[in-house]
Amino acid sequence: MAISIAILIAFPLCIFLTSEPQPHIKISTQTPAFDEEKAYDFTRTLSQNFTRRNVGAVNDSKSADWCAETMRSFGLEVHRQNFTATLYSKKFDLQNVYGISRGKSNEIIVVMAHRDAAPTTLEGANDDASGVGAMLELARIFSMQNHTLTLVFLATDGEEYGMLGAKYFVENFPQRGEIVASFELDMVGLNVTEYLGIHAGGQLGGADSYANLWLINLAVDAGRALNYTVAAPGLDMQFFEHITQISWVDQGPFNRQGIPSITLGGQPTIERIYHTLDDAMDYISGRALKMGGETAEKMVLSMDEAAVLPRGTRVYLRINDNLYLSESMVYLLMFYAMLPLLLKTFLCVSKQKTESSVLKSETVRLLLVLIPFIVALIVLYSTVQFGLLSRFELYPPPPKDPFLYDLQEVPLALVLAAFLVSGALAFIAQRKVFSNYDARLCVCLLALSFASLATFVLNVFAVVALLPFIYFWIPVGVAKKRALNFVLAVLPFFIAVAGLAFLGQIMELDAKGSIWYVVLLLSTEMITPASALLFIVLASAGALLLSLAFSQSSSEPAAPPTVSRRNRTFKP
Ligand SMILES: [Zn+2]
Repeated sequence: MAISIAILIAFPLCIFLTSEPQPHIKISTQTPAFDEEKAYDFTRTLSQNFTRRNVGAVNDSKSADWCAETMRSFGLEVHRQNFTATLYSKKFDLQNVYGISRGKSNEIIVVMAHRDAAPTTLEGANDDASGVGAMLELARIFSMQNHTLTLVFLATDGEEYGMLGAKYFVENFPQRGEIVASFELDMVGLNVTEYLGIHAGGQLGGADSYANLWLINLAVDAGRALNYTVAAPGLDMQFFEHITQISWVDQGPFNRQGIPSITLGGQPTIERIYHTLDDAMDYISGRALKMGGETAEKMVLSMDEAAVLPRGTRVYLRINDNLYLSESMVYLLMFYAMLPLLLKTFLCVSKQKTESSVLKSETVRLLLVLIPFIVALIVLYSTVQFGLLSRFELYPPPPKDPFLYDLQEVPLALVLAAFLVSGALAFIAQRKVFSNYDARLCVCLLALSFASLATFVLNVFAVVALLPFIYFWIPVGVAKKRALNFVLAVLPFFIAVAGLAFLGQIMELDAKGSIWYVVLLLSTEMITPASALLFIVLASAGALLLSLAFSQSSSEPAAPPTVSRRNRTFKP
């Protein structure tokens, strides 16, 4: 333990010794040609001539026609992608529109914005007519210029339901192998805009499903050259995007496919108008559009002038403009964070070596605790399969959608009943298993170690989400007071609930709504079965730890298991 603490303390020193210069590309010195008035006009036309352009609405496809006509008027080669998606258990028709401005090279940059709007809004002026307006103005100016790279200007559909258009594009675009970078402009028109923020996360991928460092640096540098502030994601945001893998905006599916991609959005936003009828042109300013548009233009110009774009560095932590942790350092850091747990587990198990039968019986108990959770999860998936719970292509409905407040009681009752019945049966079965305090503690640590190592492999950044479990559970059992053990065992769950409350707050949901939202996330497999299973393992280990707090303490001498007792172990 002392060794691992010493290593943890020494770690920050290693960061400074091993950090390398960050990848940057040279910023173009050309003056941007972006015309804020034209961008404003495009935004207003989409906003006010095509109100209620939510997925499946008439104005959604009419706005696609308008985007196509507008891009054709610039002389671009225009294409359309038609596809369908299941939302609220119904089939909807969606359409992407893109215009190509060919360069000398086949390598492609995709500039995109989402044309669809949330079903709870009318104009969707900021979200995201503003992005489409700026994207169309970029299409106009680049169609009149010579450029080396081929530029694709893309108006996506279905962003509000899980980046469906961006996902369809990146999986079906004929020259997808030639795309070297992409970015989205989303919510870049608000008159209160002070700076631009960056989303860099991937969509339901692993640790390397994240924007390359050079692209984030390019946005920051391009903004700086224009005297704008572009804020790179802080450490909190990097961990949040890595752990959740939600991708709130269109860059996610591109990063998932290994194509460097970010989304630029104006900050701060106005929560009151987000996804409501108030998201209208009254709040849109040309000045804000210019900030996003010019930054985007500078980025395209700089990539176009660079002979080769950098590669690499998708797994990293950006600390500031000068410092970052490389992939190997990220893995080392997370491994060191888990080290005390692995050591404690090893010591615990090696101490139990002579009594492996008691370890086995406590493992059986853990498996019995797992059963009700797994049964409930299987029943939940089945309710979707049998059409009892609404089916969604990828994500539940967007924030503020009335569906998020409309609990479907029948499937929920089925899931709860399955949990309670299998839980009662498992409880009766586990009473027949031989019980040992120290062995149970060991099995809980083993379960936590397993969950941590699996997380380390699946998505190394998510180890951070397990740190409360690791550091509160390690001392359980060392503390001799029952009350303290109880607090230590239960505290990580409170932190998890606080995290859930935070997510609920983002989605503007109350406690009941937050639980319903998690059910939806599970049913759409946005919380993947693998992550659900890992949490089930944690929850079961936590339940066993809690049971320890009520049982006899290890400090009281327990009678060594006799032969007859040991035999009872295998009669569950
Ligand atoms: Zn949006």
